[in-house]
This record gives sequence, C-alpha cells and structure tokens, in this order.
Amino acid sequence: MNRKCRKCGAALGVDDDACQACGANNPAPVPWYTPLLGVAILAALVLLLVDFDDVARLLGLN
Ligand SMILES: [Zn+2]
Repeated sequence: MNRKCRKCGAALGVDDDACQACGANNPAPVPWYTPLLGVAILAALVLLLVDFDDVARLLGLN
C-alpha cells in the first residue's frame, strides 16, 4: 500500500506525513472503521482482563 504525495505524486514512506520531495503535508488516510476497530479491541481487552466472577460477586449474584 504505497501512498503518493497528493501534490507532486512522489512516493511517500508508510509513516511519512510530509513529502520528501516537495514537503507537502499528506495526512495518513484513516479508514472509516478505525474507531469501530478501537472499540472492538477495547471490548476484547475488557472481556479478557475482567474477571466476571468478581463482577458477579460485586453485584451480589453469588
Ligand atoms: Zn510532494
């Protein structure tokens, strides 16, 4: 996935925001699903890290 400078068309490095050739700013495109991905990862972490026995105990379910 090679990005190109939107001003001069020179190839950009993966992490380059500024074009090496002309110095134009090329913000990295963020896919629309990036926030969803963040939420999904957070949810997965919570599911992995939270001990639901403790939660049940707190809620008085045990
Ligand atoms: Zn450029």
